[in-house]
Amino acid sequence: MSGTTEGKSRLNQVVEQLKIQGYRLTPQRMAVLKILLESGEHLSAEEIHTRLTPQFPMTSLATIYKTVGVLKEMGEVLELSFGREGSLYDGKRPYPHPHLICVRCRAVLDPEVDLLDGISLELSRTTGYQLLSQRLEFYGICPTCQAAEQDQNSNP
Ligand SMILES: [Zn+2]
Ligand SMILES: [Zn+2]
Repeated sequence: MSGTTEGKSRLNQVVEQLKIQGYRLTPQRMAVLKILLESGEHLSAEEIHTRLTPQFPMTSLATIYKTVGVLKEMGEVLELSFGREGSLYDGKRPYPHPHLICVRCRAVLDPEVDLLDGISLELSRTTGYQLLSQRLEFYGICPTCQAAEQDQNSNP
């Protein structure tokens, strides 16, 4: 899976869908779509807003929430809610997948492992549940933060 061509065609598909639904695609909304679907990062609405400001200084946070909301309804963005700390949005992988979260710098990683399919199948089989979704999060300290801490410890 190499990102760019895949991401681009998906962006086009989503744009098509939005047009069919009669959604007005302003340049700001297009920019929000691009950031969400192509960055491959897990961004908060505020972070998306910050990235947009140099190009579109007049964009409001409400515009971003609105666009994110529409994408969520379409199932094209995955929301990682952290309660009062807000939400991060993954537009590149809108389906449920495990996340690694650094408790120091709040970096979020999509690990390249395929462990959920097996677990879901097993759970569904043993409980009789029809599973709709799942959330799997691992918390830890990322390699960058570990290195930073080691540096601090070695020069006091
Ligand atoms: Zn970190
Ligand atoms: Zn993700």
